[in-house]
Amino acid sequence: MAEKMKGKGVIAGIAVGKIMLAGQNLDGYLKDYKPKKKADEKKIAADALIKVAENLQKSIDDFNKKDLKEQAAILEAHRQFVEDPSMSGEIEEQIDKTGSAPRAVLNAYEEKAQLFESMDNEYFQQRAVDMRDVGKRIAKFILGIKEPEIGEGKVVVAGLEIEPSVIAGLPSEKIAGVILGQGSTTSHAIIIAKTRAIPSIVGVGDAIEKMADGDPVIIDGETGDILIRPTDEERASYDVKIKKQEELKAHYAELKELPAITTDGVKVELVANIGSPADVDAANNYGAEGVGLFRSEFVFIGKTDIPREEDQFKEYKAAVEKCNGHLCVIRTMDIGGDKPLPYIQVGQEENPFLGYRAIRISLQRRDLFIPQLKAILRAGKFGKAGIMFPMVINVEEFKAAQKMVEDAKAELVHEGKDYADNVQLGIMVETPAAAVMTPVLAKYVDFFSIGTNDLVQYTLAVDRGNAQIAYLYNHFNPAVLRLIKRTIESANKEGKWAGMCGEMASDPNAAILLMAMGIKELSMSAPSIPKVKERIRNISSSKAKEILDKVMEMEDGNEIKSYLSTIS
Ligand code: PEP
Ligand code: MG
Repeated sequence: MAEKMKGKGVIAGIAVGKIMLAGQNLDGYLKDYKPKKKADEKKIAADALIKVAENLQKSIDDFNKKDLKEQAAILEAHRQFVEDPSMSGEIEEQIDKTGSAPRAVLNAYEEKAQLFESMDNEYFQQRAVDMRDVGKRIAKFILGIKEPEIGEGKVVVAGLEIEPSVIAGLPSEKIAGVILGQGSTTSHAIIIAKTRAIPSIVGVGDAIEKMADGDPVIIDGETGDILIRPTDEERASYDVKIKKQEELKAHYAELKELPAITTDGVKVELVANIGSPADVDAANNYGAEGVGLFRSEFVFIGKTDIPREEDQFKEYKAAVEKCNGHLCVIRTMDIGGDKPLPYIQVGQEENPFLGYRAIRISLQRRDLFIPQLKAILRAGKFGKAGIMFPMVINVEEFKAAQKMVEDAKAELVHEGKDYADNVQLGIMVETPAAAVMTPVLAKYVDFFSIGTNDLVQYTLAVDRGNAQIAYLYNHFNPAVLRLIKRTIESANKEGKWAGMCGEMASDPNAAILLMAMGIKELSMSAPSIPKVKERIRNISSSKAKEILDKVMEMEDGNEIKSYLSTIS
């Protein structure tokens, strides 16, 4: 019998492979290390920083050549962490304290990691893993430790924490699955796995310690089941599921080039949510017809200072170009709330989600907002870009943002820089106030994109991240559905378009309702596109309308949810 364990399945699919443990322990190596004089150790550390940055650059070039953009992007962020000018000073200080170059490097990056960890936000806390990863990489270089080799066959990468460089450094075709000891779905390892649809399980805790390198394993990313050293019979019991999975994959691949169109010809654009230009490559593989949400705050994250217009321009341009003529909607930075930035002082807030965030910061900080707008307007020249403002609650905010766009254009004219004059301007509808006011807002904006992640939490007063009250967080709640319907109808009435970029858009049952309400675009993490497309292609718009009418008569969100699950 196999040793069985259970975690939380976060990316569906069956994976079969050999365990590859990530997160090597360096304690033994550090004990054996014989430090030289402090001045020599400082030279060793300085040389290692140069060498590791060079090695990373080689890997980045290599990945770029093979068109593995997302791996390249992660290593590029790591290279920046290595070359961060503040780090060499901190490492020298640590050498003065400890006398050992590898120890000093680990301590210096550990301090940075703890800074990230102290932030009240899961995404930023996860960047601590990146910092430790970089520190370890440099320390390993000094200690002369080679990275583990992968041999024949596929691996299931397992670790209490998995360093993003491990996933980024492995060829896609070699990784069958991921098992993460900790519970987070926003670790970089899981973010990459999601864009590549690699079956993944999180939250198995210390059970990781029962696994050994090379152990045969089966994981089910849907149920969270893990079977270490399965018997032949156990393996065979998964064969049916694996066969089904292969068939589904092949079927989804066939759907890639087909439009999301109902049996009677109503079309919905299926587009992708992204956090970096590299994500567009993965999205295109799933047949995305552009980008409905580029969360631009990710361009600001991990940097030690505000990114310059030029640096932002490069990122937006790359994303716009990769959309191959389709629209690329770039949301201006949504900082604050659950996404603080170390270099933007927000101060202590009682209710950060109701606080100084998103468009509220942008409108007060021209020094941040204007360079971002200029960068997006310039990028628009290389394809088709849209600008979207987050957390808008009234018409005044939109008008003020619109005025800033005009100011940004004037600066570009003055500087003689080329820009696109036809960039669409829209807003996220993610506050109840905006949703209620959509009949008025629709007169001014070019488009709405409904952000249900926040709209649900603000409408129902249910924190989107609070597991204790998760049972109340339901996008089918009738109050939420009414706000969504109102928003879509307001847009259509004014000849504007409405889309959705919250998680609800990736729910195939929700897609039917939204389509019947008249939505034009659904934006989601790319691996969800085929299943939503499949659902839309198998229904007529009149049937969808019938379902919607019935749903709008129902009084309870759970009743709606279970009704929809019976008709799928
Ligand atoms: C939303 O609120 O639905 C949304 C898409 O934005 P975010 O998840 O980044 O808050
Ligand atoms: Mg939001």
